[in-house]
Amino acid sequence: MLKIENLHAEIDGKQILNGLTLEVQAGEVHAIMGPNGAGKSTLAYVLGGRPGYEVTAGSVTFMGQDLFAMEPHERAAAGLFLGFQYPVEIPGVSNVQFLREALNAQRTARGEEPLSGGDFLKLAKEKAGLLKLDMEMLKRQVNVGFSGGEKKRAEMVQMGILDPTFAVLDETDSGLDIDALRVVGEGINAIMRDPAKGVLLITHYQRLLEVVKPDKVSILAAGRIVQTGGPEIAVRLEDEGYDAVMADA
Ligand code: ADP
Ligand code: MG
Ligand code: MG
Repeated sequence: MLKIENLHAEIDGKQILNGLTLEVQAGEVHAIMGPNGAGKSTLAYVLGGRPGYEVTAGSVTFMGQDLFAMEPHERAAAGLFLGFQYPVEIPGVSNVQFLREALNAQRTARGEEPLSGGDFLKLAKEKAGLLKLDMEMLKRQVNVGFSGGEKKRAEMVQMGILDPTFAVLDETDSGLDIDALRVVGEGINAIMRDPAKGVLLITHYQRLLEVVKPDKVSILAAGRIVQTGGPEIAVRLEDEGYDAVMADA
């Protein structure tokens, strides 16, 4: 589904991604772990097409298409979802408005009928229930005054509504307490665990991976993948730290 080859990218002339190669097949959850500053968020931004991130070499193929030939909204319409480490606030726009706009823009781009207000609310209620987020929260302005945990759960409700084929989730577990972590992890499983879907799950910690069990785990350090294996890598990282595990790579 996602094939990243020899990816090099820079910000403000500073090279951050340095020959990153990685492949995710349909049905896989591929976790990416790595020390602070390794380039994990940069990878998520580059895949999402955030301005300011310049790709200087390499390629990314998404569902057989050249990802970099697609505008960010085309990537979303093709089924790519990005969950960010720091969700943005949108004052003056309610979650319900925002989510319905986003969903219907994607449906229209795919040549599907937009969802009616009633059908949309039914869908939103179902997904909010899945993430144990009160519908009242969805009537409030996007992320304004939300706690860290509420932002992450609202973001997972958004993912549930958009129903992407591929999700890149950047530290969705950051700032979550144990209970919220379980709810969010189980939400990811319910929405994305599917033979036709894929997930790139960026995380610092093993905790989330106890709920969303990855098929593969890669370590990203200094802008490239230095090791790929099974879930045991995450367990070792938790016990021994990055230096010890990477020394064996
Ligand atoms: P991670 O998510 O793995 O912690 P990031 O992708 O956020 O790492 O950052 C990778 C590196 O890029 C860090 O050294 C960071 O300081 C640097 N970086 C991030 N944004 C910018 C920027 N706008 N200008 C210059 N350097 C940046
Ligand atoms: Mg970080
Ligand atoms: Mg980061």
